[in-house]
Amino acid sequence: MLCIFCKSKDVVRNGKRRRNVKTKQSYLCLNCERQFVEVDGFERMRHKPEIIARAVHQHEDGMSLSKVQNHLWQHDKVKVTRWTISQWTKKYSIFLKSNSSGIKARN
Ligand SMILES: [Zn+2]
Repeated sequence: MLCIFCKSKDVVRNGKRRRNVKTKQSYLCLNCERQFVEVDGFERMRHKPEIIARAVHQHEDGMSLSKVQNHLWQHDKVKVTRWTISQWTKKYSIFLKSNSSGIKARN
């Protein structure tokens, strides 16, 4: 777990904070002393955020899942299934569109 603000590893668990239905782990960064909750976002993805973001955009621009998949393989040597790409699209399309204020978790 890295601090979402300064990327420091000096992060400690800081109790749980109730948010909607889900309970999220809250963290405190000892470096910048800011608090944040666990982000269901790019931090936990196996692939680079820019690769995911581009794949989502390409698919939303009308590129088929298999074309996006092929593009990922040709350009980035990233091998994912079409199912993975469609999951990214579902999970991140809203997130990417409204990502004006930095990192924000959306479910
Ligand atoms: Zn920090």
